[in-house]
Amino acid sequence: MTDSIKKTAAKPASKTTMKSETKIKSKPAAKPAAKPAAKPAAKPAAKPSKNQSIMPVSDLKTKSKTYPLSSLPVFPVSGLLDNRKNFNAIWEILSGLYPKPEIELDFKTPFELLAATIMSAQCTDVQVNAVTKTLFPKYQKISDYANADPDVFEKEIYSTGFYRMKTKHIIECAQIIIKNYNSNVPDTMEELVKLPGVGRKTANIVLARGYGIIDGIAVDTHVKRLSNKLGFTENDDPEKIEKDLMKLAKKEDYDDLSLTLIFHGRRVCNAQRPKCTVCAIWELCPAAIL
Ligand code: SF4
Repeated sequence: MTDSIKKTAAKPASKTTMKSETKIKSKPAAKPAAKPAAKPAAKPAAKPSKNQSIMPVSDLKTKSKTYPLSSLPVFPVSGLLDNRKNFNAIWEILSGLYPKPEIELDFKTPFELLAATIMSAQCTDVQVNAVTKTLFPKYQKISDYANADPDVFEKEIYSTGFYRMKTKHIIECAQIIIKNYNSNVPDTMEELVKLPGVGRKTANIVLARGYGIIDGIAVDTHVKRLSNKLGFTENDDPEKIEKDLMKLAKKEDYDDLSLTLIFHGRRVCNAQRPKCTVCAIWELCPAAIL
């Protein structure tokens, strides 16, 4: 942590400034968040996806106890504002805004989900879906992937970026699954993370959305950014962030929490231009810019 961050944490500034997408770079005023010039609009600006129905913020009545930002402690190591006390209040609002969130990647089988999730690294779900629309009908069985020509496959998934590494991982995953798991994608965290290119994020997605098994919380770039901004963690490492979030959320909410933070990150809390003035949780957010 830089001295400037420490200084800011010790003496909250009157305005907040965000310089990166993973760190809260400054703190809100010592008093509860300054009143915005204009009251936040009733709805987030972002449009709901095909799977979403966004409820007007005015309809949300949070009963959770909330703590003014000025009364919150700071994390001992980073000095960033520790907003974990407000997790329940924030979760109540966000889960009302994004009820029953569903994954936006298209897939029909656990292996398709695994392949699509590998392809989604550093790529949008929309682009992955555009690729898999023609890829999945061509490669119908796991053996089709295991026997794929890497040069051809690379061209087919080229537009998802990092296509050489993704091709290698998908083909090797298929070969290992055929050899060691009788052509069935494994359904335990321990086995999944042994597959090439599969970390806890991908494994959590395959378990939760492929098999309905809740093990942990998938931490992608949005979950990481929002968890830091909202003061739920002071960590940068996805596995540490996952552990921090697992201490706050109920197990049955793990998967919904991940998707909800992803949706809020995509629609409202963009990395470069967060729409704080229309954000439903601005009053509870240490990183709000108003
Ligand atoms: S107020 Fe909302 S949009 Fe702004 S930083 Fe916080 S979560 Fe993101």
